Amino acid sequence: ETKSSSQIIDQNDKHGARNYTPLPIVITEAEGIWVKDPEGRSYIDMLSAYSAVNQGHRHPKIIQALKDQADRVTLTSRAFHNDQLAPFYDKVSSLTRKNMVLPMNTGAEAVETAVKAIRRWGYEKKGIPEGRAEIIACAGNFHGRTMSAVSLSSEEEYKRGFGPMLPGIKIVPYGDLKALEKAITPYTAGFLVEPIQGEAGIIIPPEGFLQQAYELCRTHQVLFAADEIQSGLGRSGKTFACDWDGVTPDIYILGKALGGGVFPISCVAAHEDILGVFTPGSHGSTFGGNPLACAVAVASLEVIEEQQLASRSHELGEHFKRRLTAITNPHIKEVRGRGLFIGLELDIPARACCEQLKDKGILCKETHETVIRFAPPLVISKQDLDWAAERIEEVLTEL
Ligand code: PLP
Repeated sequence: ETKSSSQIIDQNDKHGARNYTPLPIVITEAEGIWVKDPEGRSYIDMLSAYSAVNQGHRHPKIIQALKDQADRVTLTSRAFHNDQLAPFYDKVSSLTRKNMVLPMNTGAEAVETAVKAIRRWGYEKKGIPEGRAEIIACAGNFHGRTMSAVSLSSEEEYKRGFGPMLPGIKIVPYGDLKALEKAITPYTAGFLVEPIQGEAGIIIPPEGFLQQAYELCRTHQVLFAADEIQSGLGRSGKTFACDWDGVTPDIYILGKALGGGVFPISCVAAHEDILGVFTPGSHGSTFGGNPLACAVAVASLEVIEEQQLASRSHELGEHFKRRLTAITNPHIKEVRGRGLFIGLELDIPARACCEQLKDKGILCKETHETVIRFAPPLVISKQDLDWAAERIEEVLTEL
């Protein structure tokens, strides 16, 4: 017997912790850019699980890699070697041009890993006195929900009731080079930045900021760590959002689409002088680097390359942004974005708008109250994007 959407939602509400406010829709099937509810209605997914599904839902090549590996071995732990690690390391290494890679599972864990690497590098390589290392982060950032990640946050609600926070963190306004320069001290080990802030509402830094910040970091012997978990792997119209400023960060933090929306995997990539600070016993994860995740990640990265999803995102994003910009309504404050990573900011709460879009077959989610994020799977066709744009136009014009 198949359950209705409302039955399923009621059941979910019964024992589930209430740390989300999902739209009232249940997804029971998905393929490519489309998802389906139990009533058989189809929707275009314009969120892509926060950019974890850049390759589209259940991409055949990625699912095949999952199945093939599931038939061989799924978990070895790092107490032993497995044969899927090296292909994964090679793939990430050639993509990032870094010679060391450390696999974890979720984005927040990769951020944790970067924070630990930055601190230890600060003590061992920069000579910061023990216990004094500082990391500079940006106002409005989102790096996840673990204690380090929320300690890095400037958002009160992410931290309320969870203290004490991790010490040694400084926050500067996003995109403010002067403030960054002022915040750097001899104890600063790293600067952690999203090259485009996703959860903050698709905020693009001023042109040249990343490049200048990178130079500043280099001058002061501070590691520049880019959280590309959401902005990377084609989403912004380039392989990495840092590419827009011609910056190769010291540390790449990757997640989400690394697992193609099929299996969680994240990683940190950097040169050996940085990631080499991890010695046996200093870091790890039971599931980190498991062969199933590694096989899925290799396929996921191949799909991004083979289907040229970065340049596709760039071209389609320009087209879609033009369509959104052409919509006239006094409540629209701004349309901004890079590639198919687009924020439409209203001067009213965006939730009702997302609910109306859902009724027209478009799934998206507000971020920070007033911003609608449009981030469909990068395999979307121009035709489907136009179909979505028409529906969005209808809803926005009626606001
Ligand atoms: N960093 C960025 C930039 C993110 O967008 C996210 C998730 O939205 C994370 C870190 C956390 O990733 P996860 O939810 O996999 O822990």
